[in-house]
Amino acid sequence: MERQETLYIVIPCYNEEAVLPVTEKRLTEKLQKMIDQGIISKESRVVFVDDGSKDNTWSMITEMYKSNPYVMGIKSSRNRGHQNTLLEGMMTVKDDCDMMVSMDADLQDDIEVLDQFVEKYYAGCDIVYGVRSARKTDTWFKRTTAQSFYKIMESMGVNIVYNHADYRLMSKRALKELENFKEVNLFLRGIIPMIGFRTDTVEYERNQRFAGESKYPLKKMISFALDGITSLSIKPIRFITSLGICLFIISIILLVYYGIGYFRGQTIQGWVTLVISIWGIGGLELLGIGIIGEYIGKIYLETKERPRFIVEEYLKK
Ligand code: UDP
Ligand code: MG
Repeated sequence: MERQETLYIVIPCYNEEAVLPVTEKRLTEKLQKMIDQGIISKESRVVFVDDGSKDNTWSMITEMYKSNPYVMGIKSSRNRGHQNTLLEGMMTVKDDCDMMVSMDADLQDDIEVLDQFVEKYYAGCDIVYGVRSARKTDTWFKRTTAQSFYKIMESMGVNIVYNHADYRLMSKRALKELENFKEVNLFLRGIIPMIGFRTDTVEYERNQRFAGESKYPLKKMISFALDGITSLSIKPIRFITSLGICLFIISIILLVYYGIGYFRGQTIQGWVTLVISIWGIGGLELLGIGIIGEYIGKIYLETKERPRFIVEEYLKK
């Protein structure tokens, strides 16, 4: 191939000391192979972004930076979570590379498909999404919750790629455009399809995490899903409005019904309905206020325009 452009692989790492040595070895080998085959340039790198880890992750990255010519490092000033760390990595390297692939530190995403990513990039795609073909290795629970998540997002009108996590290639041009999306409430999977350009997908099978524990326990997964919905869709608020209208209509019907009962003198048994209505309406009101509060909270954070990440150190080559 005549074109040899520079590929950076960006990897957010939070307490990943257990996986880093293997990840470094496998990615270096892969990068070396692609360089030897003339698919990518010699300037290609693996960039580990430390998300304020509490273990030895950063000192390991510094060591790798010294000993491995392909490794670079970025240190976040504190723990900000997966999405912000990913953005930090992408925005920090965007001027140094031609294309960037983001992936997780645990190599659950098959690195052998990197060639296909790059091929599609040379064929003119600005964004290539990695899509899981099977979820054999996931537990039943993870599979079901993850799939219902995509379904819910879809029904909320959020445009996301089915079974695509954050394993994707982006061109320099796409990264530059991503910079213009200023939101603080980050849900990259929902934002990146808004960029447009020519896109494609690459299928792969997802492996098991080979060491260390998942940094996404159920609680974080739920809050991630809720963030995704509320930062990209206003359907829940519309739903509350429609619910309010329905309840109002029902209450008018009931008013007429019991009004007639009153004139017929059959009013004593009414208290069950009354109690149920008080609890029912009270609950719905609280739910409504809660959902609206969720959005106001988001607006509040957006208006502050706080930095979405702070780079403490950039070990560059
Ligand atoms: N991660 C991060 N900050 C966090 C949590 C996770 O940078 O606060 C990184 C983590 O190191 C990994 C990626 O995000 O590279 C995905 O996490 P994990 O593999 O634990 O998630 P799962 O695959 O279980 O959904
Ligand atoms: Mg993982």
